Amino acid sequence: MRLNSLGFPRIGRRRELKFALEKYWRGESSQAELQSVAKELRRIHWQWQADAGVELLPVGDFAYYDQVLTLSATLGVIPERHSDGGAVNLDTLFRVARGRAPSGKHAPASEMTKYFNTNYHYLVPELSEDQRFDIAWEQLFEEVTEAQALGHTAKPVLLGPVTFLYLSKTVGAEFDRLTLLPALLQCYQAILARFAAQGVEWVQLDEPALALELDDNWQQAFNQAYGVLESAPLRLLLATYYGTVAHHQSLLSALPVAGIHLDLVTAPEQLQAFVGALAPEQVLSVGVINGRNVWAADLDLVAEQLAPLARDLGDRLWLATSCSLLHTPVDLEVETVLAPELKSLLAFARQKLTELQELKALLAAPETESAKAVVARCRSRRAARAQGRNQQLSARIDALSAADYDRNHEFEVRRQAQQARFKLPLLPTTTIGSFPQTAAIRNLRSRWRKGELDDAVYTEQLQQVTRDTIERQLKLGIDVLVHGEAERNDMVEYFGEQLDGVGFTKHGWVQSYGSRCVKPPLIYADVTRPKAMTVDWAEYAQSLTDKPVKGMLTGPVTILHWSFAREDISREQIATQLALAIRDEVVALEQAGIGIIQIDEPAFREGLPLKRSDWAHYLDWAVAAFKLSAAGVRDETQIHTHMCYSEFNDTIAAIAAMDADVITIETSRSRMELLNAFEDFDYPNEIGPGVYDIHSPNIPTVEAMVSLIEKAAQKIPLRQLWVNPDCGLKTRNWEEVEPALKNMVDATRELRRRL
Ligand code: GLN
Ligand code: ZN
Repeated sequence: MRLNSLGFPRIGRRRELKFALEKYWRGESSQAELQSVAKELRRIHWQWQADAGVELLPVGDFAYYDQVLTLSATLGVIPERHSDGGAVNLDTLFRVARGRAPSGKHAPASEMTKYFNTNYHYLVPELSEDQRFDIAWEQLFEEVTEAQALGHTAKPVLLGPVTFLYLSKTVGAEFDRLTLLPALLQCYQAILARFAAQGVEWVQLDEPALALELDDNWQQAFNQAYGVLESAPLRLLLATYYGTVAHHQSLLSALPVAGIHLDLVTAPEQLQAFVGALAPEQVLSVGVINGRNVWAADLDLVAEQLAPLARDLGDRLWLATSCSLLHTPVDLEVETVLAPELKSLLAFARQKLTELQELKALLAAPETESAKAVVARCRSRRAARAQGRNQQLSARIDALSAADYDRNHEFEVRRQAQQARFKLPLLPTTTIGSFPQTAAIRNLRSRWRKGELDDAVYTEQLQQVTRDTIERQLKLGIDVLVHGEAERNDMVEYFGEQLDGVGFTKHGWVQSYGSRCVKPPLIYADVTRPKAMTVDWAEYAQSLTDKPVKGMLTGPVTILHWSFAREDISREQIATQLALAIRDEVVALEQAGIGIIQIDEPAFREGLPLKRSDWAHYLDWAVAAFKLSAAGVRDETQIHTHMCYSEFNDTIAAIAAMDADVITIETSRSRMELLNAFEDFDYPNEIGPGVYDIHSPNIPTVEAMVSLIEKAAQKIPLRQLWVNPDCGLKTRNWEEVEPALKNMVDATRELRRRL
């Protein structure tokens, strides 16, 4: 039984790659220095995997920016604007990814987008109708040599040809990108021949597109591709992950590949269908250790399930992580201050390799003392989890009824009550929540965190910032104010830190894109709210003015998606727990006299499953969670939500079902096009389509915003419209924000005058 690692995080357990990259980008180090950091990281990561008994070591999982970009460069798919005519090198990559590099001309970066249903972002390859594919970068082959020189058996890992095409976009004249498949396959053949010449036996081709619903043409592309690649003088492991591929079982089982990898963490039920259809020599790699989450596995249960298969398949069964470990933090060992009861629940990338090793031992020699110890550890972990359930919370959830999910009256009744209370003008102006997080604010927080500032001083200083923020908004003449979120460093962490059942690591970073990493909170137990989280700040801000100041919360669905969530209960159940915690906060804000409360749900759409047929179920519970969080208030309390940039065409019914009194969205770049979905649906509630692109330092003019509001008014009745920026302003500075908001208010006044 071989242990199969699909890929290891590249960033380094202390984010060494991030810091080396940023240093290089700032011009403070040479390419050679960056390369030597990278090489050392690869060496360490291979060594860890080898130490855990992994024989075939992944090569090509490392990337200076993104593994899809590495492949594009290898295939010679570099947009002309980023190429300087010479050979591909690191700066070529950085120009594609960031629009600039220490050398070469600046040019707009390639588009970056989410990788399937993960929080990882890849650079979208740009293909032209006459696209050529030629091996243009030696990096992958050099890494193979590098691994071999260290005494390892290298297993190159790259995206398969069909998924590569699927993730690409076409540029120039419209054409069907599948027409490029034959040329692409020739290049893959050349790459595989090079690997074979290097002595490589196994190559892993990742085809996560198989987890999607694919039309006939794309299904056929798999037959065509693997029919051609079959002749490669080495063995191919076709890897699928992130979801079930059972809907493509007959297609997949008929492909002439030496091995298939299945993600049995997200879709354990698909195993049987594939086992039955395995070809005589074919290897089955079972992804049973979760590459998407941080929890230690129930190895005893996994071993029980796999035991018959292990007997049947013998060494044709490989034990594997469900997908690359890219999505998990690197090493639990560096977490020295984590509470032991939480630490005992966790396994990061390195620990997951150990789990593979332990699993193999459980299957091969279940009677040994060490195997028994593993089983005992798994059992006691499960028992502890079960005992940790909060009975009171369960009872509260059981007692929920339909009425708890709905406001007291329908929107029209609420609208009138709210209008009578707030008497807002036509086209009310507001902002999305945060104001500039200045260096001074960040400095305050870091000194407070280090214990250099006591609570009272910290609070007082932040109150001063809040006061200043309110005064500026009053001077600008904005109708509905915000307190500015100066006390928050992150919209999820701020709440996570105050909720019971949510924990934090110090080094649990995961790559989001390039050098950018996120450190998601860990939802490890039942979530409850021990005390008010935002009421003091909201009350303080409201005490400074007679104008309404919005209470500002992060919604349950977003907190869930941006965290590592436990797996012993369903995501739906966790969302319900979070929703109740937020609901209690909403009600507390209302009791404190806050009349308008915003519940941000920017990650709402991120949770959509890969397969459309699963969407309805997700949308049902996600909408329910939001409604539960919002519905505890009286008619005259106004609930807002904010969703950043999002497509609404295919989810508008669900968005309407959320029944927020006001929704704000990002629409300035699309020039209000995203409003079409609302228009077509006759969306009944109020909408604030963003008129100010906050991602750009440019200050939008009055005319530009007048024209955007007019465009919005062509789609949505004026009476339903608000005027606001696209998103929060925390990444901008006051020199930009103040004139931009002044123009926004002027644009609104101009339109009100004309009416
Ligand atoms: N209220 C948050 C802010 O303004 C919303 C951020 C977001 O949508 N991502 O910062
Ligand atoms: Zn936003």
